[in-house]
Amino acid sequence: MEYDVVIVGGGPAGLSAAIRLKQRAQEAGVELGVCVLEKGSEVGAHILSGAVMDPRALTELIPDWKEKGAPLDVEVSEDRFLFLTEAGSK
Ligand SMILES: Cc1cc2nc3c(=O)[nH]c(=O)nc-3n(C[C@H](O)[C@H](O)[C@H](O)COP(=O)(O)OP(=O)(O)OC[C@H]3O[C@@H](n4cnc5c(N)ncnc54)[C@H](O)[C@@H]3O)c2cc1C
Repeated sequence: MEYDVVIVGGGPAGLSAAIRLKQRAQEAGVELGVCVLEKGSEVGAHILSGAVMDPRALTELIPDWKEKGAPLDVEVSEDRFLFLTEAGSK
């Protein structure tokens, strides 16, 4: 099979590159075949779960991700940085 662009790796970088390319092609009215090759059993198989992420980049890429039902359920409300010592934390 022939594609215009082949992206190796279906992690955040590869997936966003593929999505952005397709968005740009659609805006320009151009047909662009994009293929993402992932060595995991499925896209996301090598992504760790339970991640805390800054959604800025996702918002730039897909502004309506909330309406589309992206599974980002809990908003971060507090951020603390602790050094753990033998006696406790500081
Ligand atoms: C333990 C840990 C915890 C983390 N926690 C967080 C967090 O909470 N929040 C956060 O924002 N970030 C977190 N990160 C960082 C985050 O995972 C990375 O920044 C992000 O995954 C990088 O995306 P990427 O697309 O560059 O690479 P990756 O996510 O590594 O994607 C690369 C993909 O390419 C595939 N691949 C590799 N070689 C080939 C090949 N030859 N052929 C086909 N496919 C291939 C791999 O299977 C993988 O799916 C964490 C990282 C680690 C290690």
